[in-house]
Amino acid sequence: MGGRALNASTGIADEALGPTITIGEILVEIMATTIGEGFRESQPLTGPFPSGAPAIFIDQIAKLGGGCGIIAAVGDDDFGWLNINRLEADGADVSAIAVLADQPTGSAFVRYRADGSRDFVFNIARSAAGHVRLTDQARTLIDRAGHLHVMGSAFAIPAIGAIVLDALRTVRAKGGSVSLDPNVRKELLSGGQGREALDEVLAQADLLLPSGEELFAAAGVADEAEAIESLLARGAREIVVKRGKAGASVFSASGRLDLEAFQVEELDPTGAGDCFGATYLTCRRKGMSMEQALRYANAAGALTVTRRGPMEGTCGFAELDSFIASQEGKPTP
Ligand code: ATP
Ligand code: MG
Repeated sequence: MGGRALNASTGIADEALGPTITIGEILVEIMATTIGEGFRESQPLTGPFPSGAPAIFIDQIAKLGGGCGIIAAVGDDDFGWLNINRLEADGADVSAIAVLADQPTGSAFVRYRADGSRDFVFNIARSAAGHVRLTDQARTLIDRAGHLHVMGSAFAIPAIGAIVLDALRTVRAKGGSVSLDPNVRKELLSGGQGREALDEVLAQADLLLPSGEELFAAAGVADEAEAIESLLARGAREIVVKRGKAGASVFSASGRLDLEAFQVEELDPTGAGDCFGATYLTCRRKGMSMEQALRYANAAGALTVTRRGPMEGTCGFAELDSFIASQEGKPTP
């Protein structure tokens, strides 16, 4: 079992312990090219783009040169291979992505409304994405992992709870750390077993990466300070709150730190939270300070929203450094 190989200054397992892994949906995203309400008429579309919150998260880690892999399932079709080829080319471990002969790859059709909100048509639970299993390859990846990241969105997959809990216990026993993005879509949460597993991950996570309302849902209270206090008291070491174009904050035993967002023109916000979270986590696993991790994460989130397509904005440190340099000295709003 060995002692916890946690980096004393971060509370998050050092990269040397093993790759960051996640479990969940791989999808293609197909986007409407016009603004409007949903899909009840024929219209121009663009895509397919590689997608799925867990897949975007892993791709961003790979771009940063971090060890990473994903447990997932796709169909033996072009949508599946589009994703596998992208993740592999970017450096992620794709050995635990099952290619299913008899299920199509999952999909999400998205169209933006004038107010910036989105209409979706999802095909997840009844696609290959909904058939993630604890295969031998998944077991091997879990055994190698140093950090488990759990995506709330993945709880749309019926059998995910048991796999997540298995990975949680294995990674913990080895001294690894755990993070959670509670981006749960209540309408997609697949019943009691998923709920219980999610609650256990919430209770055990070292790092939480919520957006505003998710923070309150996780803590069960409607005041930010109270929610933070309650989650820190329950054992989270760091809580990073994502605030869209208002930036982000990190809360820990050593207090609070706020950073403004970089000023960019938002073209497509999908994936910002995933790239942000992956960058924060990877920087911390590399031993960077909370402030430095938050700055890189802010830059990764900002860059993502300037590119169309959920996984098209992932980027490495060189690109983040030149983006940050280009932003320095810009007037604040
Ligand atoms: P999603 O679930 O859609 O991926 P999220 O709600 O999890 O997103 P956001 O808060 O929207 O996450 O975005 C994450 C981070 O990305 C923000 O905290 C910020 O740093 C950056 N970001 C997002 N939108 C913008 C923007 N319009 N301008 C600059 N930075 C942005
Ligand atoms: Mg989110």
